[in-house]
Amino acid sequence: MLQVLISFITNPIIIFIFILDILLIIIYPHFTGFMGEFWVKKQLKKLDKKEYLILNNIMINDNNATHQIDHIVISRYGIFVIETKNYSGIIKGNKYSNEWVQILGRNKYYFKNPLFQNYGHIKSLSNVLNMDEKYFISIICFSNRSQLKLIDVNVINLYILIETIKKYKQPIIENDIYELKKIILQNNIVDGEVRQNHVINIRKKLKEQNELVKNNICPKCGGKLVQKQSKYGYFLGCSNYPKCHYIKNIK
Ligand SMILES: [Zn+2]
Repeated sequence: MLQVLISFITNPIIIFIFILDILLIIIYPHFTGFMGEFWVKKQLKKLDKKEYLILNNIMINDNNATHQIDHIVISRYGIFVIETKNYSGIIKGNKYSNEWVQILGRNKYYFKNPLFQNYGHIKSLSNVLNMDEKYFISIICFSNRSQLKLIDVNVINLYILIETIKKYKQPIIENDIYELKKIILQNNIVDGEVRQNHVINIRKKLKEQNELVKNNICPKCGGKLVQKQSKYGYFLGCSNYPKCHYIKNIK
């Protein structure tokens, strides 16, 4: 019996599968970013093509900043700007906090509030299309594997994406939707080098922000950051609150 067990665990194939499993667990969080967009694309195809025009992976330039937008759905009922997050685990956050948290077992991972991120995308699109922000609808779409612990109508799991879009039944847009699609495509950056620079710039900005926070300076308004306490623990908050809502969780 013992011999069978030993020959089983020393079997190269078993060892190989075991190592592959471990690797997949490590790589998975990064790997899924790519998969997420694919699954959202597949869902969006369920919308009526005549009524909803879909654009995927758009990059536009506005005020010398580039914005990478996962998905845009143009319809008479509004322009839906969709930011996808293919995360698993429990997701917590609120409208105002600078960072949200992903809880995976005992580990916590902080990420930028996607509502802020998507608001930046909407602002850039509103400039490009020369349309008021009221015509844009922000949707943050998490994968079905995540459990959302926040209350915001447009922060959703993938399985209600189509239903969420279809809730908007009031025609509010008088422009020709094909014309709007054309303008966005005309402004879409397709140059690989520019797209790569976008990623480099984001990393640089993040580094600069972290540097400011380290020196207790608010990266949003330049105010002083002070340590505050909530029922969840300590955090850094901007001394210009309530004018500035910057918050940084202390890990
Ligand atoms: Zn501030």
